[in-house]
Amino acid sequence: MGLKLFNTLSRSVQDFAPLAPPKVGMYCCGPTVYDFAHIGNWRTFVFADLIRRYLEFKNFQVTHVMNITDIEDKIIKRVRETKTTLPEFTGKFESAFFADMKMLNCLAPHQTPRATEHIPEIISLIEKLIARGIAYKAADGSVYFSIGKYRGCGCNYGQLLKLNFDEMRAGERVKSDEYAKESIADFALWKSRVPDDGEIFWPSPFGEGRPGWHIECSAMSMKIFGASFDLHLGGEDLIFPHHEDEIAQSEGATQKPFVKYWLHGTHLLVEGKKMSKSLGNFFTLRDLLAKGFTGREIRYLLLTAHYRETFNFTLEGLSGARTALARIDECIGKLRELAGENMALPHENDNLILNLSTALDDDLNISRAWAAVFEWVRETNLWYNSQFQNETLEARAGRAKLAAIKLAAWEKIDSVLGIGVKIETEIPIEILEFANARAEAKKSRDFKKSDAIRDELKLKGWTIEDTPKGARLKKL
Ligand SMILES: [Zn+2]
Repeated sequence: MGLKLFNTLSRSVQDFAPLAPPKVGMYCCGPTVYDFAHIGNWRTFVFADLIRRYLEFKNFQVTHVMNITDIEDKIIKRVRETKTTLPEFTGKFESAFFADMKMLNCLAPHQTPRATEHIPEIISLIEKLIARGIAYKAADGSVYFSIGKYRGCGCNYGQLLKLNFDEMRAGERVKSDEYAKESIADFALWKSRVPDDGEIFWPSPFGEGRPGWHIECSAMSMKIFGASFDLHLGGEDLIFPHHEDEIAQSEGATQKPFVKYWLHGTHLLVEGKKMSKSLGNFFTLRDLLAKGFTGREIRYLLLTAHYRETFNFTLEGLSGARTALARIDECIGKLRELAGENMALPHENDNLILNLSTALDDDLNISRAWAAVFEWVRETNLWYNSQFQNETLEARAGRAKLAAIKLAAWEKIDSVLGIGVKIETEIPIEILEFANARAEAKKSRDFKKSDAIRDELKLKGWTIEDTPKGARLKKL
């Protein structure tokens, strides 16, 4: 059976047939780097990681691209408030994002283009749209995309949502500060420089300013993949207006179909409610790590629900994840011990591998995939416990070989799930950062500060020992 996925564009489950197999171009809207990413954001990135890993498991050659939005209204505001520079400010959150991504064992995308490094591509795309008559410069100096002109050319705005576009835009009216545009539905491609922007602007044929958010993704994805590519992913909150606008800009400029399959992950509830800071259920990855959970447990929990299902993320669920992972670890531990030095390849028709791929081929039916994993754990435990007594040396050697084959099957499916096996001492990200800060303080002979950090670490349940090989962290 081949892979089937739910395409938001057709609102149906379709066979996945890339434009130029075995190559697959996959673009996932990345973070806006003005703060730490929260657990809802991470659901989308873990989902993108699952798709990428599964396509690779099926021998597709995936090029995974994720943009970094490093210029945007909120970023400019924070740069102003914190009196830093744009690269200093965004650089900090960008590196935090990649550290978090690693903590969740997400594979690094092959390319992570930054918006600020693609201003020429963005400008040339806007010029194309102006030349085609579907973008215009308004009295305020900004350039807007004209939805009316775009539809006038026979193009369809609203391909993803299939709603009346006037209705869709109505809600935006209140927050809209763009009075100069011809129609309320139009959106900004280039925002002209205003005093609040400070030194954050670029010269352009339309005047000084900066790009709008939507045009960044069109320009960067088409630079890498060309006019058309296979897969575009994001959270469902991006369907409108972000993805709808991406389609309009791209197809308006090239007159070719932009993306073949649009995949959207559903949002997350935390403790049964929409995440919000005032409800106290707003968690960044770091907040959860500070509560003593591991990146592996968080990844597992995020991976237990189907991507199109509203998922209720709870701390109790995380404790459950710990128990579930312990069952897997125990089983793998037994197999490792039994296999010893034996190495093997998985059987061609291995049940675990077949069951996983049957489940995931069906629009990534992850619940069925986990059911297959735990059934395998149960069977493996029974097998391990069954013939252990009075075993001949020959029988024991045969079992060791079989254990190695089973381990190989596990490793094959774990290339998709990415949960691995337990690492002996998993040191939380925050504790690592404290240790780094202490090392810095010691280097600059600020012993008062290094002692203060050591005390703080103690409060968090960690001790730091100075050894001839350097500082070593130990859990109290
Ligand atoms: Zn995007």
